[in-house]
Amino acid sequence: MIRANDITIKSWIEIPDNSDFSIQNIPFGVVKHNGNVFVATRIGNTVVNLYGVAKLGHFNIDDEVFNTSRLNDFMLLGKQVTRDVRNEISNIFNAQNETAQNKQELKALLIDADAVEMLMPLEVGDYTDFYSSEQHAYNVGCMFRDPNNALLPNWKHIPVGYHGRASSIIVSGTPIHRPKGQQKPKDDEPPVFGPCKLLDFELEMAFVTYQGKALGDSISTKEADEYIFGMCLFNDWSARDIQKWEYVPLGPFLAKNFASSMAPWIVTLDALEPFRTNGSVQDPKVFEYLEFEGNKHVDINLEVAIQPEGTEEKVVSNSNYKYMYWNMNQQLAHHTINGCDINAGDMMASGTISGNDETAYGSMLEISWKGTKSVKMADGSERKFIADNDTVIMRGYSQNDDVRVGFGEVSTKVLPSK
Ligand code: MN
Repeated sequence: MIRANDITIKSWIEIPDNSDFSIQNIPFGVVKHNGNVFVATRIGNTVVNLYGVAKLGHFNIDDEVFNTSRLNDFMLLGKQVTRDVRNEISNIFNAQNETAQNKQELKALLIDADAVEMLMPLEVGDYTDFYSSEQHAYNVGCMFRDPNNALLPNWKHIPVGYHGRASSIIVSGTPIHRPKGQQKPKDDEPPVFGPCKLLDFELEMAFVTYQGKALGDSISTKEADEYIFGMCLFNDWSARDIQKWEYVPLGPFLAKNFASSMAPWIVTLDALEPFRTNGSVQDPKVFEYLEFEGNKHVDINLEVAIQPEGTEEKVVSNSNYKYMYWNMNQQLAHHTINGCDINAGDMMASGTISGNDETAYGSMLEISWKGTKSVKMADGSERKFIADNDTVIMRGYSQNDDVRVGFGEVSTKVLPSK
C-alpha cells in the first residue's frame, strides 16, 4: 500500500470538487514564478514550491534537486526516493497535520496556480512512439489498405513503434506553426511543396522513465513498473499529407518531428495504481518476454476538443487509455529486449488511442474518415483536419468512487505557416 494513495486523507489546502489535483494525486512539474524556476506539485488550485519545502528540511534529498528547470535529477534518485517524497508531501498537506498547517514558512510556499507559468517539466532524452491501439491500427489499415487485412501480420506479435525526435517536444501553451513540406495530392501528378493541408492531432498518453539498465541488459514486464516514473497527456501532431508521401520506405520523418505537445504535470505511476485494470485478451499468445501478470492497463478517461479562434470549443472525441492492446510493461520490455538502454527522462508515447466507435477515435484522420466527413464547430464552421488559429485541447483523468486523479490539459494553438 502506497501511503499517499490512502483515500481517507483530506488536505488542509482547499480542493474544489472534481479537481484533477486531489491530495491523492501529487504530480510533479516545473514552474516559473516571480522570475524563479523550481520543481513544484499541485493540490487543488494551489501550486507548492518544492524547492522551498526541501529547504525546510522535509525531504531526505539534496535540496538542489528541486532548484532546477528539469525533473531529470529527481528521477535519477529512483523509485523509492520519489515515492518517499510523494508520501511526505501527502503527510505535510494532510488535514490532520496541525503542525504543518500552522507553519508560516510553509504557507509562504503556496502559490495560486494562475500565477505561475508552467514550463517543460523535463529534458526528454529519447522519444519513442508506439502504435498500440488496435482500433486505431485497424482504422488506418481499413483506410489505406483493406478491411479484410487491416492489421499488418506483425501487429499482434510486436508492440510496433519508431524512434521520434525529442528536441521538438513542447509544453502545453506553446503555439506551433503549420509545417511546410512536400506532398503528393494526386497520384498521377508530380509532388507539390507548401503548407501542410491535412494537419492532425494524435490523442496519446506518454510515460517517462527512470534510469534503466546498462546497454545490453533488458527490463522484464515484471520489472517495468520500477522503471516508470509517471505519465502525461500527449498530443503527437501529424502532417498527414507530408506523411503519406515521405514515409516509404523508412517510416515517419518530417510529418512527425515538427512538434509533439505534452501536458506540464507528470502524474506518478504510484498515483495511478488504484486505476489499474485489465486489457483485452491477447490472441495469438505473445512471446514469453511479453507475458505479464496482473492488471497492467490503466483506466484514464480522455477527451479532445477543438476551439476555433473566438468561439467555444467543441469536443470531438472521448476515448480511454484502457483501450490499448499493448500495455506499458510490454512496451518497455519490448523496447529493451534487444539490449537497448533507456535513461532517466526518456519518453514513450502510446500511439493514437481510439475506442471502438467513432465518438472515441483519437485523430481527425479517423473522425473525418480520411477527409470524407466533417465535424461542425460551435460557430458553424466545419473541420476535417485542423485549421489555422484552432486550439486543440486534450484532457484526461482517472476516477473511481473514492478519488479522482487527473492530468490537467495539453492545449496547443496552431498558427499559420511561417
Ligand atoms: Mn503518434
